[in-house]
Amino acid sequence: MFAPLALVLLTLPPEAELDRHLYPFSAPIACPEITLDTTAAEDMKPWAERAKTLAEQWFPHICELLSTAEYKAPAKINFVFRVGQSAPAYASGSEISFSADWIRQHPDDFGMVVHELTHIVQAYPRNRFDTGWLTEGIADYVRWWRFEPEFIQRPINFQTASYRDAYRTTAAFLAWSSKKYNSALVPALDLNLRKAEDPMPTFQRLTGKTAEELWEEFKKATGPAPAAGGQ
Ligand SMILES: [Zn+2]
Repeated sequence: MFAPLALVLLTLPPEAELDRHLYPFSAPIACPEITLDTTAAEDMKPWAERAKTLAEQWFPHICELLSTAEYKAPAKINFVFRVGQSAPAYASGSEISFSADWIRQHPDDFGMVVHELTHIVQAYPRNRFDTGWLTEGIADYVRWWRFEPEFIQRPINFQTASYRDAYRTTAAFLAWSSKKYNSALVPALDLNLRKAEDPMPTFQRLTGKTAEELWEEFKKATGPAPAAGGQ
């Protein structure tokens, strides 16, 4: 007698609803030839070779994770290793500059290769909206939530943090919003940036909430940072 009611309760949501639980991968794109310049720091050679192999493996995955249907990869990517460079690494055009000093102190930091390689794939045009925070957030989303997801995430200090803080805070916000509301969020934001569009309406379109509303929910769901320890 109770079966019909149970069946009603167990009915699946409409088919269109199911899409939001699946990540919409783009087609993979083969990694361009990678050249290595270690002339300024010869001891970087073994690390550079491993970074090259990692990039060859991950470049197609990064293309799959973003909206790269129209993306034209550069013919070559150059990795150059410098001494006395203040930033651990940065990407410019089709070149990534690595700090040899940083790598000597952090030989395990292959995650930065994935972050900088994401910038090569992003190759966004100039945008009249303020979107630098989102560019860095997406690069850290690929790094911290797709390349090294087993890494224990740093707590966020919600008293001072904002979803526009870029890097890991934005990445964690994007990951939470994707999981809770729509897996297509990051690829859709990436597409906005490729078209030099305002990305903010995409939060509302895909999740039904503004970025500010999502951030308030994220705060409540994640809770305050631990009083002791952490960091
Ligand atoms: Zn960056």
